[in-house]
Amino acid sequence: MTAFIGQTARVDTERSQLNPATRAEALDRLGTEAFDIVVIGGGVTGAGAALDAATRGLSVALLEQRDFGSGTSSRSSKLFHGGLRYLEQRDFRLVSEALTERNLMLRDLCPHLARPVSFVYPLHGRLAERVYVGAGIALYDALARRHGNPLPGHRHLGRRALQRLVPSLRTDAAVGAVQYWDAQVDDARHTVELVRTAAAHGAVVASSLQVVDLLREGDRVVGVRARCAESGRELSVRATQVINATATWTDQIQSMAGRGQLRVRASKGIHLVVPRDRIHAGSGMILRTATSVLFVIPWRSPTSITGDDAAGDHGHWIVGTTDTEWNLDLAHPAASRTDIDYLLAQVNQVLRTPLTHDDIEGVYAGLRPLLEGESEDNSALSREHAVTQHVPGLISVAGGKYTTYRVMARDAIDMAARNLDRRVPPSCTERVPLLGAVGHQPRWNSRHRLAAEAKLHVARVEHLLGRYGAQTDLLLELIAEQPALGEPVAHGGPYLAAEVVFAVTHEGALHLDDVLTRRTRLSIETFHRGVDCAGEVARLMAGPLGWDDATVAEEIERYRLRVAAERDSQTRADDRTADAVRMGAPEPRHLVRLGPRPNGS
Ligand SMILES: Cc1cc2nc3c(=O)[nH]c(=O)nc-3n(C[C@H](O)[C@H](O)[C@H](O)COP(=O)(O)OP(=O)(O)OC[C@H]3O[C@@H](n4cnc5c(N)ncnc54)[C@H](O)[C@@H]3O)c2cc1C
Repeated sequence: MTAFIGQTARVDTERSQLNPATRAEALDRLGTEAFDIVVIGGGVTGAGAALDAATRGLSVALLEQRDFGSGTSSRSSKLFHGGLRYLEQRDFRLVSEALTERNLMLRDLCPHLARPVSFVYPLHGRLAERVYVGAGIALYDALARRHGNPLPGHRHLGRRALQRLVPSLRTDAAVGAVQYWDAQVDDARHTVELVRTAAAHGAVVASSLQVVDLLREGDRVVGVRARCAESGRELSVRATQVINATATWTDQIQSMAGRGQLRVRASKGIHLVVPRDRIHAGSGMILRTATSVLFVIPWRSPTSITGDDAAGDHGHWIVGTTDTEWNLDLAHPAASRTDIDYLLAQVNQVLRTPLTHDDIEGVYAGLRPLLEGESEDNSALSREHAVTQHVPGLISVAGGKYTTYRVMARDAIDMAARNLDRRVPPSCTERVPLLGAVGHQPRWNSRHRLAAEAKLHVARVEHLLGRYGAQTDLLLELIAEQPALGEPVAHGGPYLAAEVVFAVTHEGALHLDDVLTRRTRLSIETFHRGVDCAGEVARLMAGPLGWDDATVAEEIERYRLRVAAERDSQTRADDRTADAVRMGAPEPRHLVRLGPRPNGS
């Protein structure tokens, strides 16, 4: 089946189907064809680079060692935002650029995935504070308006209005507030849709494919040596330009070249997830801490695209984050008891009913890829990105933030394009919507009819539209063929059985962990952390993946051990012990250990 995405390009939607069969074809092509560009790293930056290259007419391959989005790109605060605190650091260019990107996501590129979210910034008494904060947020809105802001402007709240909006706030915690708007996105879902969109435009993509070395001809890098983390098969992928988009792993790839210019340091940030009913509030909050800010972010099953903060049945709050140096395992950063206690202490300063450890459904930790700077204080290091060429044929792109991935990707491909021996058109990704974006609004407007035709409750169709946009058609087709797939997974929150099957047939999920952690967010949205539905999910995956009973049992047991190790690590006081405990859990993928970090994987 072929279709047009927007007005920009002809795409083949069959190519966007990521499953074991298409992966096997991709591996064959990777081993036999020569590409203009090979991108290492299937996080948002690498996926963005693959899409940028493919839509300029270049041949491009994208190689990810684990699952797409399994690095930092599934572990962020999930905000498309300008970053209010960078405004305080007077980084106007960065804020303006990020706000432009935020608006682009909301309006054009992924309106089905990005949704408005409001925050209150509590004030503590002095008029001067209201003037200072009000002026800052007014500037934030003004910068956003320059590029057509689809969100409402900020407003000032007095004490009573604030109490009505956020009844859970202690009365002595604020005398009023300023409320402003930003956007949020399910980062893992967005990244996988970006990968699929790149594939639809012709990128050859493969997960579970670790780059273990660079191919050299003299001084020049001419491709990569890659190893399949499922079978151990090795292959050489030839390319004119190699782009290193591996974030906190940047040094590992640079060291294969013998030299590197980018120094990327990892800073750990953790988040807690608690049920919606633990905090009564009609808006998120942004709270000042001694060194940074703390977000309390509404996180719910996407049942609304209107942006109102009505609580859904499966709603949650995300509380975060921290900012501490991390030199241990890069793939599975562990949250310690100290991290968790810190977040609880911070948020409890303003809550009428304090949160306790028993309220915590999920915990996740991620690593900020910070460009090495002069300052020893993580919070002051720049979030801006850098693109450098170390040796002919090898370019690294790192830093930045999720919101500005498209700009990072464009800059990396611009540099690579200068090294190709032909004229390459400029980036056009600001006009390339993600799969599911085009046609989303008409379907949303017709959701009651769609629900009646599919014999589903409208809430289920809304849930699907909020996660797949126009691609919901494909899930409804699956449900029409097998009505049982229209049922929710038992103990699986709002997620339908069809989503599990679709994750395997279209979204490249290869292991149980991929589905429970990233295609769905059951690992952080349930008190059982996905364990109680692991059996059903594994059995749904078994058919399309060809798993026998032993493999099903092995996947379930490995997932159970992972959750147990994470829970245990979260009782440990310090990073080193938490890391050691987390590292005791078995991995679904078999990677080889690369330098130069002693404990990095
Ligand atoms: C706690 C926290 C909160 C954040 N919140 C926000 C936010 O709200 N908004 C925002 O805009 N930004 C936020 N960020 C920043 C943002 O998440 C990151 O900047 C972004 O996700 C980085 O994406 P990436 O693709 O560069 O890195 P990653 O997602 O880490 O991707 C790198 C990929 O490279 C792969 N890889 C590594 N080595 C190899 C190899 N040898 N072969 C093949 N593949 C390899 C890895 O497996 C990984 O998937 C946050 C970050 C953190 C840590």
